[in-house]
Amino acid sequence: MDIYYKSTRSKSERVTASKAILNGLAENGGLYVPESIPSLDVDLAKLPTMDYRETAYAVMSKFLTDYTEEELRYCINNAYDSKFDTEEIAPLVKVGDVYGLELFHGKTIAFKDMALSILPYLLTTAAKKNNITNEIVILTATSGDTGKAALAGFADVPGTKIIVFYPKDGVSPIQEKQMVTQTGDNTFVVGIRGNFDQAQTGVKAMFNNEELKARMKDKGYQFSSANSINIGRLVPQIVYYVFAYGRMIKDNAIKAGDTINIVVPTGNFGNILAAYFAKQMGLPVNKLVCASNENKVLFDFFTTGDYDRNREFILTSSPSMDILISSNLERLIYMSCGMDTDKNMELMNELGRDGRYTITPAMRENIKDFYGNYASEVETKETIGSIFKKEHYLSDPHSAVAYCVYKKFKKDTGDSRPSVVASTASPYKFTRSVMTSVDKKYDALSDFELVDEMNKITGVKIPDAIEEIRNAPIRHKTVCDVDKMQDSVESFLGL
Ligand SMILES: *Cc1c(COP(=O)(O)O)cnc(C)c1O
Repeated sequence: MDIYYKSTRSKSERVTASKAILNGLAENGGLYVPESIPSLDVDLAKLPTMDYRETAYAVMSKFLTDYTEEELRYCINNAYDSKFDTEEIAPLVKVGDVYGLELFHGKTIAFKDMALSILPYLLTTAAKKNNITNEIVILTATSGDTGKAALAGFADVPGTKIIVFYPKDGVSPIQEKQMVTQTGDNTFVVGIRGNFDQAQTGVKAMFNNEELKARMKDKGYQFSSANSINIGRLVPQIVYYVFAYGRMIKDNAIKAGDTINIVVPTGNFGNILAAYFAKQMGLPVNKLVCASNENKVLFDFFTTGDYDRNREFILTSSPSMDILISSNLERLIYMSCGMDTDKNMELMNELGRDGRYTITPAMRENIKDFYGNYASEVETKETIGSIFKKEHYLSDPHSAVAYCVYKKFKKDTGDSRPSVVASTASPYKFTRSVMTSVDKKYDALSDFELVDEMNKITGVKIPDAIEEIRNAPIRHKTVCDVDKMQDSVESFLGL
């Protein structure tokens, strides 16, 4: 069955998968959503015998139906190879009473690599298929991890340029160093004096600026997005939930057909939406547990039906989740009101105007698969410390938010079925907050001394991603105010 993509904000737009990937954002600032969710037509009992690439093909071919088998296998084989430091690609490990799905074995040691190692292939293949001759300019806002993963994916990819905006004071020192040392003549990294929401809003404004787009076109450029609003990010993220299910069968944690819970540390709502799509495809999933940090807009939303971003923006130790406007939630809103573009537009306009909206009781009923909770900064630190003590396993702060919320979920609901926590970053990316959670004394050490100390206490090999930036020269020094983002894009592109 061919799958087409519709905009959450336009009744008329209907495009192929490759077009949706190329465009990034849909008409009227909407997001692309598949017209219907295809079902997974593999026997669940067969999943444990399939490796990551086979699983990826089984899932992605259902969504990206205008890619030929040859094209899609080319993308998958080039993405999920020895760039990952383990053949499993996404290993499943037992952490106490729950499974951790480690999504941080790619080039930049965060889960963004899972989708961003394939997106450049999907995008350049899409350009070829659609006879696009313009150079594609990837414009991206990052809360820390997307930026580096996108830079690593697109560096020196012919026919592309990549521009990344990050909040200058809102990312970890390692995250910043990873970005500003990025090589590749087609890369451009800018720190903004503002937070992630402002970076994301600035990027969206450029996407919707027709005058700018016209001038770009004259120069042979067109925008696309590497943010999780791109369906080319979302679809590859469904794969690892299906893969994890197979690994749980293999591990005798479940039998084919048993239901599991999936716990996801959430920011922009992309990763957990992918888990929801996996459930919609027919993967036996009970609850989708949405874990937030102190920026707990989503917890409040799931408990009350009110989405309200009017609150203080808190900088936490899990910066990639410091988000008050979770872009991908719009897709769930759209689906929960029966794909009603008018209703969705009404709510999104309220969000733009008042910073808040309330969904109807019927819509709430339709999103009952979700459970929300959050972890405070203190609880997150305690979780890192106690998991290390009990299991000798070091979790990064984002994953720790999820481990903590899983505990609350279990206590709250009494649900003890086998569960998976999406573990989204290597602890090596957040050495200071992780090590000081183990023992305060570590705060006296420098960033790279902490790396070595972490290696000493865990015995886990220091990832290449960290070794590479130890002595790498800084190549990107541009910093700008929020209202100058477009100027910096124009000067980089010579518009
Ligand atoms: C991006 C990110 C998240 C949040 O994922 P969303 O898809 O934005 O909800 C969580 N943890 C880490 C480490 C991340 O990089």
